[in-house]
Amino acid sequence: MSSPPQPEATSTPQPSPLQLSTESRVLFGQSFEQLAAILSIFTQPAYRAKQLWQALYQQRVTHLDQIATFPAQLRQQMTAAGYRIGLPEIAHVFISTDGTERYLIACADGDTVETVWMPNGDGGESGDGSENDDPAQGADTRDIYQRATICISSQVGCAVNCHFCLTAKLGIQRNLTAGEIAGQVVAVLNRHQARIGRDRINLVFMGMGEPFLNYDAFMDAVRLLVVGVGIPESRMTVSTSGILPGIERFAAEPVRPRLALSLNAPNDAIRAAIMPITRKWNIDALLTALRAVPLRPRERLTFEYVLLGSINDRLQDARELVQLARNSGLNVKVNLIVWNPGPEIPYQMPQAEDVAAFQQHLIAAGVPAYIRRPRGRDIYAACGQLKRTTTP
Ligand code: SAH
Ligand code: SF4
Repeated sequence: MSSPPQPEATSTPQPSPLQLSTESRVLFGQSFEQLAAILSIFTQPAYRAKQLWQALYQQRVTHLDQIATFPAQLRQQMTAAGYRIGLPEIAHVFISTDGTERYLIACADGDTVETVWMPNGDGGESGDGSENDDPAQGADTRDIYQRATICISSQVGCAVNCHFCLTAKLGIQRNLTAGEIAGQVVAVLNRHQARIGRDRINLVFMGMGEPFLNYDAFMDAVRLLVVGVGIPESRMTVSTSGILPGIERFAAEPVRPRLALSLNAPNDAIRAAIMPITRKWNIDALLTALRAVPLRPRERLTFEYVLLGSINDRLQDARELVQLARNSGLNVKVNLIVWNPGPEIPYQMPQAEDVAAFQQHLIAAGVPAYIRRPRGRDIYAACGQLKRTTTP
């Protein structure tokens, strides 16, 4: 790789070792300050940083040559110095009969992660009343607006080891960078030519990995997506298996997505049997941390609850869950997820009538409960199925 241009005068700032590293030559994922520092190497006026920021995150360019606001000479200099946009690329697309698309997305180092596009969402990421102002619901506008939820990965694999989850089988391979997390969204938005402001795009950080075990990169990605790409944080939901220090940090964030806790059980005994992390942070400790998260108007926390046949799907579990929700003092809704099977995972799907009875019990007791439609099961894109296979 060729080296960056040599400074002409001694007063020109010298590139720091960080700026010279290969990774720093990937522009996508850099903060405004980092972009300004890179452009100062090329002795550019301050306004160029804003132009680059807009090109990366608003125009969503994929190649330096597409930055129309930059002089050709600057684009050439940057290219010659090894700089590139470096957006993750969609390496493979699997399309489900229900319209869901699963992508194998290749990072610069060749690692792949999975990202899912679900037209019209899956009935669980919203359902809290905030849809009432949805411009896409008017019959006249339906053709004009796109409405979809993108499910994003935060790590390659996962370290948490929930016994019902296929991603757990991979173990943790590595954390994704902020650029790789936000880059999944931009790659998918580009594929669908989505227009922020016109289209209604929801983001769920519920793909591979535990976002709160990659906290800084995850939150940096959120800020890039909110401030740069322009997706409101109220349209984003992050799901955690219950990483207590992460929840505590999250509570203090001025800009943050909605929060979902993968509760999955009505008590510590059942939860510990399916989610060993419960032995580190029990349900009580998690609820205490959740109570410290200041909610926005109309915002609710979500309890995700994967229904496993004969493990946590009985009426007595529903009763206990109602008590837990009431006693928690939290404004919550419950998203019920029918467990998606995977090879060598020793659980059973719940019976359809048990799922219905479970939901009815919660609703009758005044606890809002929604059933997440499984999306893209035929292409292994549903919850907990990511990285099952690389071919359909
Ligand atoms: N690591 C985070 C986010 C990714 S998992 C977390 O655990 O919350 C997203 C959701 O998928 C979680 O609620 C998890 O409980 C659920 N899930 C995992 N495996 C599943 C499976 N096989 N079937 C259905 N849901 C599953
Ligand atoms: Fe990791 Fe979430 Fe799967 Fe648990 S459910 S192993 S935390 S990805």
